[in-house]
Amino acid sequence: MLDQKKTVISGIRATGKLHLGNYLGVMRNFANLSLDETKRCYFFVANLHTITTNIDPQSIRHDLREIVLDYISVGVDPERAVIFAQSSVPETSELMWILNCFTTVAELERMPHFKEKRGKLEEKEIVNSGLLTYPILMAADILGPNADLVPVGEDQHPHVELTRSLAKRFNNIFGKTFVIPDILSSEVVRVPGLDGTAKMGKSDKNTIDLSDSPDIVSQKVFKSVTDIRRKRRSDPGDPTCCNIYTMHTIMSNGDEIRYVHDNCRSAGIGCIDCKEILIQNINNILFPIQQKRFELTRQGYEFVDEILHEGGIVARNKIAPKVEEVKEKIGVPSY
Ligand code: AMP
Repeated sequence: MLDQKKTVISGIRATGKLHLGNYLGVMRNFANLSLDETKRCYFFVANLHTITTNIDPQSIRHDLREIVLDYISVGVDPERAVIFAQSSVPETSELMWILNCFTTVAELERMPHFKEKRGKLEEKEIVNSGLLTYPILMAADILGPNADLVPVGEDQHPHVELTRSLAKRFNNIFGKTFVIPDILSSEVVRVPGLDGTAKMGKSDKNTIDLSDSPDIVSQKVFKSVTDIRRKRRSDPGDPTCCNIYTMHTIMSNGDEIRYVHDNCRSAGIGCIDCKEILIQNINNILFPIQQKRFELTRQGYEFVDEILHEGGIVARNKIAPKVEEVKEKIGVPSY
């Protein structure tokens, strides 16, 4: 019987600790998806994407296993979802090469992610071509397993749009080959940085990590930037230009959001009062995740390696036939 389940795929780069942006942007969805009987989920660690910005073998290996622990700590069921390392499926890189030849340089240069990353590099640093072709590897990650649905954060949406264009382009020339994937987002959440920037990001040192203790969360939030024009406690603030308020809108309940909004505007409360409420809510989110992780960590890495091994086999079995079909169609089969 044909498998009627929708295929879901998403990945996270192996670049250090995961943060609230990763969790609220995508990972909290992963747990529910993995339990949904109508879906077959593939969650991978994008360790090949990692090497666009970091080639430190020890840290990549370490972060890979830590991210598997994070997947399980946030509630992904490893018995139901396939958890694997991107590097376990060499056919994905082969597909990427083929998709490269269907993509224009202009399309890649337009990607906001590339512009942002290039902008952040120091003048002396070299822009490696992996940073430019990053979205094509992502397209191969998605098209290889015939994914129907891709749960990714808002920052990755342009990459999924490019993936859809590439799939249509290929299908138009060679006949129906790829499924056209859809973005799966229950609600679009972009968690801002503690430094006042629009996005919390691993490389920006502006994060609350999933592993941060209540003390660290307090320290980080108390130090974080608010409405810079509010200098004194008695000055009315403007919540619309305060990242702490934006975080409230994501992590606090309706009454709290109204309370901090109105009392910030009227100077009824100060930034410290507002931050105290947020700190409590962040810790309530983090506590169950940290508890689960603590239990898992006691088991050591052996079971993580087993999950990666099994997951790698299942993912490869799913992806390799599609890549062979593509190679056949374009006249470069394996002989
Ligand atoms: P990355 O850490 O860049 O590999 O991102 C992993 C996933 O987390 C991607 O789907 C991102 O879109 C999502 N993500 C990363 N940072 C944020 C953020 N600050 N807010 C919302 N989603 C995010």
